[in-house]
Amino acid sequence: MNPILPGAAIGILGGGQLGRMTGFAARTLGYDVHILDPDPKAPGFAVASLAITAPFDDEIAAARLAEHSKVVTLEIEQVSTVTIEAAARFAPTRPGATAVYTVQERGRQKAFLAANGFPLGDFATVDNADDCAAAVQRLGRSIVKATMGGYDGRGQVRVASAEDGRRAFSTIGAQRCVVEQFLDLEVELSVLVARSATGEVKAYPPSRNHHEAGILVWAVTPTGLDPQLEQRARELALGIAEALGIVGLLAVEMFVTRDGRLLVNELAPRPHNTYHHSERAVATSQFEQLVRAVCGLPLGDTSIVRPAAIHNVLGDCWEGRTPDPAAALTVPRARVHLYGKASARPGRKMGHLSGCGDTPEEALHVVQESFRRFNGLP
Ligand code: ATP
Ligand code: MG
Repeated sequence: MNPILPGAAIGILGGGQLGRMTGFAARTLGYDVHILDPDPKAPGFAVASLAITAPFDDEIAAARLAEHSKVVTLEIEQVSTVTIEAAARFAPTRPGATAVYTVQERGRQKAFLAANGFPLGDFATVDNADDCAAAVQRLGRSIVKATMGGYDGRGQVRVASAEDGRRAFSTIGAQRCVVEQFLDLEVELSVLVARSATGEVKAYPPSRNHHEAGILVWAVTPTGLDPQLEQRARELALGIAEALGIVGLLAVEMFVTRDGRLLVNELAPRPHNTYHHSERAVATSQFEQLVRAVCGLPLGDTSIVRPAAIHNVLGDCWEGRTPDPAAALTVPRARVHLYGKASARPGRKMGHLSGCGDTPEEALHVVQESFRRFNGLP
């Protein structure tokens, strides 16, 4: 297979922060960047020489993106497979429509994982309020999650009784939901796998992730956890990437429960918030790796050069005050990454802070201290 070499254009479905940062990496390698996004103010358009404003189900617009590109990738899985197939008539789409189809609906994704023997917590997929109530009755304390369209904890309700479950189904207002037993978590991990158009595969060292109210707060690598557990996590992620036949990136979010089980939470066929530290920790960032993978270039090294961490910056930081990015930069080894989003809403991901250190604890301290100063605290 001949690689797609620098000078060519890469098309990206989605111009949020992930598309934007992929675009930066593509530009560094010498590629041109084309982006399609429904939002005329999409952050990714800043790096695109061709910016197409169109909804993700606009087949004609997706075909136009592909006509002008040598390869098409994506930063969001909520793109209809019809759109991906429309693009695929003009340029290879990596990942392909089948892998995205499997991942994009939570119920379908879980069915795929279960059918292939990958470990999951107890769950049920339901399509009406009665079945939702019955599932909560069986599973006990649970989380009801919409199968489509949810992210950052949206479209999810925590429930304790059958009656809660019935109510949650109508509050969420989705056609299908999964009901997941609420797990007692020891720690959350993720593993990012890159699989190239040539078949070459590499897993990153796991990331340790801290969420609050369903939203990622910080992530750090290396995890400092038992090397055997880390090895199992990497093998699990590699196995899922192979079973999906993904080309590009696959992030596998995992739970380690207090009773010692390693379970899959969910999959993402694209760059992932928990690997933003790969820009500091690893020789090859996830964004560069995605470009290499979809262009059929040799994959880059994924071993850790130095411990690194990130802390998310949410729209909440703008509530009733103006944050201070200059103060955040006074912490040695801290960097500020802002996505150029015009309006800050609570819960919206506006940027992140990254840092490195001699140990993961030190790297985490750098971003936490930088975050304090970002918020104007002395
Ligand atoms: P994102 O897009 O940010 O990854 P999401 O909206 O897809 O989030 P999930 O990954 O399903 O949401 O859940 C977000 C977080 O909520 C998890 O990382 C975990 O902290 C918590 N959580 C989710 N499911 C469970 C569960 N079954 N038991 C315990 N905690 C859970
Ligand atoms: Mg998640």
